Amino acid sequence: MRNINKVIIHCSDSDNPHHDNVKTIRQWHLDRGWQDIGYHFVITKNGRIKWGRSLEMIGAHCKGHNIDSIGICLTGRNNFTQEQFHFLVVLLKKIMREFKIPKENIFGHNHFNKHKTCPNFDLSKIIEQL
Ligand SMILES: [Zn+2]
Repeated sequence: MRNINKVIIHCSDSDNPHHDNVKTIRQWHLDRGWQDIGYHFVITKNGRIKWGRSLEMIGAHCKGHNIDSIGICLTGRNNFTQEQFHFLVVLLKKIMREFKIPKENIFGHNHFNKHKTCPNFDLSKIIEQL
C-alpha cells in the first residue's frame, strides 16, 4: 500500500439523476483519457459508498496532491442528502482509523484550488462529527 496522509472531498458537479452512479463518472474520466475513474470512493444520493479506483493506485482528483491522498466524491452540485453526509462521516472515520490520519488532514478540493467551489457544501459540519 502507498503512503496515505490525507483525504480530499469532492462533488460530481451534477444533480442529474442519470449521473448518480460510478459508471457515468468513470466514463467522464475515461473520456478525458484517464485510465480509470479519478476518485477512490463515490457516495451516491442514497448514501451508498461505492468503490472507484483501488486504494493502492494514486488517484486523479486534485492536482499536486494525488500521490498521498484518498479522493472521495459525493454525487451532486447543489443538492446533497443527509444519507450522503452520514455515510461520508462513517467512511472518513474508517479511513482515519485505518491509515492513522488526523482530522486536520481532511480537506475539501477548494482548500487546494481556490478557483474551485468543490465540494460545494460546508465540510466543517462534517469534520466536527469526526
Ligand atoms: Zn473536486
